[in-house]
Amino acid sequence: MTSRRTFLAAIPAATLALAAARTSSAQAAKLEESDTAAASLGYKHDASKVDTKKFATYVTGRNCANCQFYQGKATDAWAACAPVGGKLVNAKGWCAAWAKKT
Ligand code: SF4
Repeated sequence: MTSRRTFLAAIPAATLALAAARTSSAQAAKLEESDTAAASLGYKHDASKVDTKKFATYVTGRNCANCQFYQGKATDAWAACAPVGGKLVNAKGWCAAWAKKT
């Protein structure tokens, strides 16, 4: 049987758990290479794995971290990217929408 004191003590913990769940769900999801937008743009989490026969615009050294669409700091491992629907992309990734950060 739950005493009133035990029940009241549980409320702040439940509130914190809900707040944590809201915070994590508000964060964008990581882009999957199999996503439609990613596949059509040849996105890879690791730029060295880009299919260069299909995506000839890839040049070694280009990656999400030095792309103008990368919404994080260059030191962030993952950040949102508008051309792929605002999902998180890997700093070491690349896709055909790459444009030099100015
Ligand atoms: S647009 Fe730029 S930041 Fe976004 S996935 Fe392509 S290369 Fe990465």
